[in-house]
Amino acid sequence: MSASIIDGKAFAAGLRERIGVLASAFEAAAGRKAGLAVVLVGEDPASQVYVRNKGKQTIACGMESFEHKLPAETSEADLLALVETLNADPAVDGILVQLPLPAHMNEQKVIATINPDKDVDGFHVVNVGRLATGLPGFVPCTPLGCVMLLKDQLGSLSGLDAVVIGRSNIVGKPMAQLLIAESCTVTVAHSRTRDLPDVVRRADIVVAAVGRPEMVKGEWIKPGATVIDVGINRVAGAQEGKSRLVGDVDFASASTVAGAITPVPGGVGPMTIAVLLRNTIVAAHRNAGIALDESAI
Ligand code: NDP
Repeated sequence: MSASIIDGKAFAAGLRERIGVLASAFEAAAGRKAGLAVVLVGEDPASQVYVRNKGKQTIACGMESFEHKLPAETSEADLLALVETLNADPAVDGILVQLPLPAHMNEQKVIATINPDKDVDGFHVVNVGRLATGLPGFVPCTPLGCVMLLKDQLGSLSGLDAVVIGRSNIVGKPMAQLLIAESCTVTVAHSRTRDLPDVVRRADIVVAAVGRPEMVKGEWIKPGATVIDVGINRVAGAQEGKSRLVGDVDFASASTVAGAITPVPGGVGPMTIAVLLRNTIVAAHRNAGIALDESAI
């Protein structure tokens, strides 16, 4: 193996430490803790784990965690009313509605009801527009985490050729916007892309956000390229009845060619919640009118 491993777990731990320092300074200045409200509707097991981890890490960073767990049969009107209450609550700086929502709810409508200045997930159309036009807002956590890892690894990204595989609203599209803002030359690939291996081979930076286990092979990668694997796929393990997590990149072959690569698990995954906490402390400072050098976090 020649690639250096990009340790997202360690980077996320450092980020949480910096947020902890900012959170206690915020509490001293504002006379209250920064607060994150997380809303979970229904009993999806994966969502329950995410919400529990978010709550734990929020508290560990010295912020207030408000958890709202609603039954799956909650009406959309009741959920919207809760979001409005959180919008109006001065103790709440960030609001996150855990997706997916039950089928009888309109996710876009729910997201559109969140005050954009408390939308720490960065999914509100106002924040999507702010990102696209270069205005300060909130950027979705996973792609922002990827850019933090890339800048930590490479320094300036200016002029580099980047390929983003995937065009979802949550990862692919905001990732492309962020890389454009870093002055990369960006190609966005998706399921209709012709000759994907050839497209990937041109890239100095490859971001894989596809949801297909180990799809991107080592022979697709330009020697020395930096590979960011966003994928989280559960596949059958070597032992019967056991499963394991793999990314969208075939780590075994890609790590012999790439210059640097994120592992799965332990790469991008741990960054997502850490960036959510980063967005929350940023929201708290903005909402309270307290100055903060956001670029230094
Ligand atoms: P989506 O399913 O929303 O999007 C997948 C994208 O991949 C689509 O744009 C799709 O193209 C494209 N795609 C599918 N098949 C191919 C193919 N054969 N060749 C090229 N492109 C293809 O997924 P998400 O963006 O939500 O997530 C992507 C991955 O990232 C998943 O594994 C998910 O679990 C993981 N993830 C990890 C997070 C983390 O915290 N680390 C957070 C969020 C996601 P098209 O648009 O044409 O259909």
